[in-house]
Amino acid sequence: MAQIAYVNGRYRPLRGEAVALEDRGYQFADGVYEVIKVLGGRFCDLKRHLDRLQRSLAALEIAPPMTRRALTSVLGETLRRNRLREALVYLQISRGTAPRNHVFPKRPRPSVVVTARRPAFPSPSEREQGVGVISMPDLRWGRCDIKSISLLPNVLARQSAAAAGCREAWLIDSEGQVTEGSASNAYIVDGSGRLITHPLCERILGGVTRSVVLELAQDDGIEVVERPFTLDEAYQAREAALSSTSSWLLPVTAIDGRPVSNGMPGHVVRRLMARYAAYLGVA
Ligand code: PMP
Repeated sequence: MAQIAYVNGRYRPLRGEAVALEDRGYQFADGVYEVIKVLGGRFCDLKRHLDRLQRSLAALEIAPPMTRRALTSVLGETLRRNRLREALVYLQISRGTAPRNHVFPKRPRPSVVVTARRPAFPSPSEREQGVGVISMPDLRWGRCDIKSISLLPNVLARQSAAAAGCREAWLIDSEGQVTEGSASNAYIVDGSGRLITHPLCERILGGVTRSVVLELAQDDGIEVVERPFTLDEAYQAREAALSSTSSWLLPVTAIDGRPVSNGMPGHVVRRLMARYAAYLGVA
């Protein structure tokens, strides 16, 4: 069955040509996106994703192209047309199409694209054995809190990780601190069982999964500390983990080829993985 995408008011084959050459998303990466998980035909954490979308749009001064209600029905209809009950739904909004000029067009009409694809969630072995990450310099801009489609430093870091046989690249700022992964948030657990992750600020994306995981940890009596941690602390950590919509919560068991602790997932992260699965209703 052909995959179907929503493009500016029409449902059309994903592989067709649809976006204008002068779309500012294509020319300037002038746009934002969301990736939303669907399980059992249900959008997970839709409100949190739409709230973040609204913040990203506002930060770039792109007027919301439709109401939340209309957007929600487009998301649902795209899912339905692709006949998927489990999916990753991708939503992208650019500032729209205009003759190429860095300055915003006078009357922009944002472009909206939605696709729904069969997800490649982590394998049982990744969940049971954990995954490896490599460290890379964080070369991104100063507003990583905006979920912008401008992802070149993330793409390059992730490619280096893939070339090294790793799942993810952890990005290191000029002070030697781990900000986050190229497409996920980063955590360590210290010797006292505290879950440590970078605080929300302009240097990281506030992950939807991160917000859920921190709430679940607190509910479970795990102490959460939102502070930056260094790469050296991560090498010495008792446990480590990453989270994202598509990766869920995964144990990180090697950093730059060095095993984290004994190289196996630890009990804090395993407990949180179980809590997160229960939260999603798949436990
Ligand atoms: N940080 C970055 C840079 C990301 O690209 C992502 C994934 N979109 C995340 C964190 C995790 O965010 P979420 O849990 O909302 O998928």
